[in-house]
Amino acid sequence: MMLTNRSKSVVKKEMSLVEKLYLPAILSGMAITFKHIFKKPATVRYPEEKREMAPVYRGHHVLKRDDSGAERCTACGLCAVACPAEAITMDAAERKPGEEHLYREEKYAAKYEINMLRCIFCGLCEEACPKEAIFLTDTLVNPEVARDAFIYGKDKLVERMDHRIDVSKRQTADVAMFKHSEMDAKHNKVYKDKTKQ
Ligand code: SF4
Ligand code: SF4
Repeated sequence: MMLTNRSKSVVKKEMSLVEKLYLPAILSGMAITFKHIFKKPATVRYPEEKREMAPVYRGHHVLKRDDSGAERCTACGLCAVACPAEAITMDAAERKPGEEHLYREEKYAAKYEINMLRCIFCGLCEEACPKEAIFLTDTLVNPEVARDAFIYGKDKLVERMDHRIDVSKRQTADVAMFKHSEMDAKHNKVYKDKTKQ
């Protein structure tokens, strides 16, 4: 039964002597190869050379601090609930008197881990966070040889005060509106002030 009228009968044509030598085909293939030698390569020599990432590229996470250096995360667990890959785990602890400069809220994450092998970099943790505490950055996750090394704890996630990370490209007014939250970009301002010095 014919389903369409596009059928084509194939004829097994005898190859000519020139075709049997394969020379024209080899030469035309080599011509294509030589043409590409003089073209700008499409690849880069990573890691010596790095491509500029798109501003919205989602890489390695950062747990932000506020403008005074206290951790913003309150261990509410919303990011872990939102994570489709179940990559986030945490243990909450209560802030003790005298620790106000370390933790912004009365509850904080004593342990916070992301399994980078599970993470699909969807950014849902960032969207779910009501405290503007977790953001994805444009930093690539380092290659490792051991699986355990891909479990990132607070030592790798919490922002360093001497190396603040600008997340203003991700923390836009549209994002704030989406989260129904007041824009609180003080830590970005601190970052910008530091870069001016
Ligand atoms: S980026 Fe997505 S997969 Fe990765 S930790 Fe966040 S919510 Fe989970
Ligand atoms: S990062 Fe945000 S959503 Fe996740 S536990 Fe901390 S405050 Fe809650």
